[in-house]
Amino acid sequence: MSSERDPGFSTLAIHAGAQPDPSTGARATPIYQTTSYVFDDVDHAAALFNLETFGNIYTRIGNPTQAVLEERVAALEGGTAGLAVASGHAAQHLIFHTLLETGDEFIAGRQLYGGSINQFNVSFKKCDWNVVWADADDPSSFEAALTDKTRAIFIESLANPGGVVIDIEAIAKVAKQAGVPLIVDNTIATPYLCRPIEHGADIVVHSLTKFLGGHGNSIGGMIVDCGTFDWLASGKYPTLSEPCESYHGIRLAETFGTFAFAIACRVLGLRDLGPCIAPMNAFLILTGIETLPLRMQRHSDTALQVARWLEQHDKVAWVSYAGLDGNRYKTLAEKYCPKGAGALFTFGLKGGYDAGVSLVSHVELFSHLANIGDTRSLIIHPASTTHRQLSDEQRALAGAGDDVVRLSIGLEDPDDIIADLDQALANA
Ligand SMILES: *Cc1c(COP(=O)(O)O)cnc(C)c1O
Repeated sequence: MSSERDPGFSTLAIHAGAQPDPSTGARATPIYQTTSYVFDDVDHAAALFNLETFGNIYTRIGNPTQAVLEERVAALEGGTAGLAVASGHAAQHLIFHTLLETGDEFIAGRQLYGGSINQFNVSFKKCDWNVVWADADDPSSFEAALTDKTRAIFIESLANPGGVVIDIEAIAKVAKQAGVPLIVDNTIATPYLCRPIEHGADIVVHSLTKFLGGHGNSIGGMIVDCGTFDWLASGKYPTLSEPCESYHGIRLAETFGTFAFAIACRVLGLRDLGPCIAPMNAFLILTGIETLPLRMQRHSDTALQVARWLEQHDKVAWVSYAGLDGNRYKTLAEKYCPKGAGALFTFGLKGGYDAGVSLVSHVELFSHLANIGDTRSLIIHPASTTHRQLSDEQRALAGAGDDVVRLSIGLEDPDDIIADLDQALANA
């Protein structure tokens, strides 16, 4: 990629960050299955430990396979730098470890992945990092939740399970006025369908486990630094703006400028908390990303086809998919996800709870499990599984009422996907 042209998205998905291995000529990025790296000499070692030069020290802090993955996802999102870690949840933990001091607050839209709700409500409280909930359908609720302790706003772009599309620009405006970074979880949309950076995000976070890896075989997470936030101006982020004890008093925001946030997450958070990604997983996810544009288009096109078919079925009460005409999120989807509304949606069965349980027992092609973003089509009845601990009222609020079924549409032939739902609905 040496010409003057800016490469397109599909080209970046295959080439960004990678080149033939300089020592062997290997064309695919090798799996660097090593814990540690030999220094050139004592001065080189000192420079690495002082953050005066970039390079490999120990795989907890960085690895060459991981580095290609980081550069690739940062390029696809349009950010300045990336940091790959062990899981999406590890990525979220490192982000807040970098941004928050004890007693600080952040505002999160309620329409989030269930695991994130638990992480914020339960585990983060132990660190005295305090979530304040807002309604992602109502940007003014974020404004109302601001206090002088607010240090960040967190939303998803396309939210699970019910095909919720968030008005990123409206919420970015609130963050900008408050002088705090906007963090967007772009897992479900992926940068192929939505680029949060173009709508005001300062940090993008991913579970690589889902569509980026895409094949249901590896867990991973990614932090993308958009390079847009001025960490020195506000004085609210001492980890970035104050002299750093463990690096001879340098100020990370001063030394590393537009990629200081990614550096801080690596050299403090990842170094000390330790959730590094395995080189093998970085390799598998990189391989998955090469076909991301093809897969996401097919996921979205088939999901729309299946959603339209379900809408006509006489056992189906409703279908919630932002790609459908008349859906409340259709206009937002056209703005933020113009190529398609993604692979996930929910629908309601007229037969309620029992019909949901029966449907998941009668599918044959669909797999009944708690994941999304696989090549395989997946189905779950949240009320009897992921949301069964909640009260009826809590379930309804979470979009997981008794009648709700969630689908993650895979890459099989659309006719086979529809035929499986058809026979399962007939037998349910
Ligand atoms: C799965 C998921 C996560 C958590 O990622 P893990 O890789 O499972 O830790 C976070 N956000 C969203 C939207 C997800 O779907």
